[in-house]
Amino acid sequence: MIESKGKIKIKTRITELFGIERPIVQGGMMWIAGAELASAVANAGGIGFMAALAFPDAESLRAEIKRCKIMTEKPFGINLTFLPTLRPPDYPAYIRVCIEEGVKFIETAGQNPEKYMDQIKSGGIKVVHKCTSVRHAVKAEKIGCDVISIDGFEAAGHPGEDDVTSLILIPLTRDALRIPIIASGGFADGRGLVAALGLGADGINMGTRFVATKEAPVHENIKQALINHSELDTRLIMRSMRNTERVMHNKAVDKVLEIEGRGNMRIEDIVPFVSGLVGKQMLDCGDIEKGTIAAGQSMGFIRDIPTCKELLDRIMEQAEDIIKEIGRKIV
Ligand code: NAD
Repeated sequence: MIESKGKIKIKTRITELFGIERPIVQGGMMWIAGAELASAVANAGGIGFMAALAFPDAESLRAEIKRCKIMTEKPFGINLTFLPTLRPPDYPAYIRVCIEEGVKFIETAGQNPEKYMDQIKSGGIKVVHKCTSVRHAVKAEKIGCDVISIDGFEAAGHPGEDDVTSLILIPLTRDALRIPIIASGGFADGRGLVAALGLGADGINMGTRFVATKEAPVHENIKQALINHSELDTRLIMRSMRNTERVMHNKAVDKVLEIEGRGNMRIEDIVPFVSGLVGKQMLDCGDIEKGTIAAGQSMGFIRDIPTCKELLDRIMEQAEDIIKEIGRKIV
């Protein structure tokens, strides 16, 4: 750590690898993580990942990458999620576009990217694999991933099936790996950043916190709902299908849980509520009851809607105060 203009800089393996100033990553949230958010995070000194699957085909992703390059000269990446989906994507085509557009970092999630590693690596792209268990992280390191983003049970979206929280998962992953790790799940402020570094991570990933920023392209009602909801207001759906998703509690979620509780649920039974296209309508129109939207327990920390720069400045200042305070306590 070095002093600069009265503010600390935190230099870690991931600030070095990504070529960024602050060890803060914006995850590839479906429908939300596009050029506006990724470029705002990049310009604020972190790195953002745009969600490839939010674009109907590879050429629309190419257009978004070009838009992002106009909005920032700093690095950004692309998220590729391999999970069950109602609209199977053409992954090789998305990867080809990333290579052609000179994308340097791909965040993979859902399943290990072994099938696509040769293609991704042929473009000189570094792979950040997002996973939810130590054993998956070990496997990802073995197949050549460059960074692990480890998702604790607190996380929004798909936190896996093991229910191990960040407090346990981060140090155990650090013990098991040589490559850098990003702590994900439950992070929203400078306290989380210092804690993650203390637990052995090289930085933090935030999703839900970034949805409540000025640049996130979602309806104001969604941002207000994140402020109004607490850490108690998430639910886990699709557990019975081993595709667990942590979402914001609402009437549609109660309906899904009721259907799930009857047993033998099939995906068709809940499509009207969980379909990503319904989620997109909610984010665009602000109808917070219509279907399901991913949200993490970190909702409890969200009290305002700053710009990405204000948010990252605040996190770094808070981290600096905490580190100094800890330093003063050492006798
Ligand atoms: P979608 O409309 O294809 O599916 C809606 C939900 O149903 C998703 O959670 C999906 O995983 C689940 N689903 C679909 N078919 C299923 C099946 N056969 N069995 C079990 N579950 C099934 O989803 P979308 O919003 O268009 O997103 C595309 C994919 O990308 C999804 O798998 C989504 O979960 C994933 N994704 C997740 C994140 C995240 O968690 N942060 C980010 C980006 C993308």
